[in-house]
Amino acid sequence: MENNYQVLLYYKYVEIDDPETFTTEHLDYCKNLGLRGRILVASEGLNGTVSGTIEQTNQYMEDLKADPRFADIEFKIDKANEHAFKKMHVRHRDEIVSFRLEEDVNPNEQTGEHLSPKEFFEKMQEEDTIIIDARNDYEYDLGHFRGAIRPDINVFRELPDWIEENQEELEGKQILTYCTGGIRCEKFSGWLKHKGFENVNQLHGGIVSYGKDEEVKGKLWDGQCYVFDERISVPINQEEHVVVGRDHFDGEPCERYVNCAAPECNDQILCTEENEHKYLRGCTPECRVDPENRYIIEHSLTQDDWEERLNKIGESLRQTT
Ligand SMILES: [Zn+2]
Repeated sequence: MENNYQVLLYYKYVEIDDPETFTTEHLDYCKNLGLRGRILVASEGLNGTVSGTIEQTNQYMEDLKADPRFADIEFKIDKANEHAFKKMHVRHRDEIVSFRLEEDVNPNEQTGEHLSPKEFFEKMQEEDTIIIDARNDYEYDLGHFRGAIRPDINVFRELPDWIEENQEELEGKQILTYCTGGIRCEKFSGWLKHKGFENVNQLHGGIVSYGKDEEVKGKLWDGQCYVFDERISVPINQEEHVVVGRDHFDGEPCERYVNCAAPECNDQILCTEENEHKYLRGCTPECRVDPENRYIIEHSLTQDDWEERLNKIGESLRQTT
């Protein structure tokens, strides 16, 4: 059945007294309801994304809001044709986003100004404005706001160091931050304020809300928005589609993510189907000759086939052994 499912994305920074017990009970509850997805629980709050039928997900939203702690939680809702996850996980963590700040901030006490999609759209076009993407590099590479800075970091927790190194460039500017659903910006923008930056703003509801806004219609967004479920990406800009993703091997426009076939590497790379076959889904020559290369196993290639395919791209099985 078409669009009989929904994918929910939500978070709430609120004190949870006994997160261990909450985690266990919430997992049972979600499983009984038939949901699938990933939820993180910490004493600082809740961060989740789940999929289920419209009935199941509506029930979940209703039940969660009935808890006074989550009465004002906001859900971003996407229609879907099926589940977006294989299993249901609820996990207890120290933080609901791994930020690992030396000086932690409480977003309920200190955070950047929340901007509606329309306000964000307008401010993006003002002078002396810096737009910072608060996501990981592989998320940025698939799509981002036009003109946004891609911090040269691998994981979110490296962002504070990057900001410190680029202090001068940011000083005195109007700073706009954004992320997928808004949760990462709560702490990130709070942390910028904590560091003394004054004009700090965050996109309320994140990119996914921006893409659904009737007025801005996702304008000034290029590419696709990376999401952490089986869909991998969702469209944002309703008016034009500029492809910004580039194929890992030949640099041609590409929006198709695959994981490197070498299990130890497993890096996400953008690559066309053609290049996946050509390069045996290995991101480097080493990954292409990895004895456990999953592409070779999946396609039941013999040693001779393997060697022949490598020869075509000027490589060989023996080159690294
Ligand atoms: Zn690799």
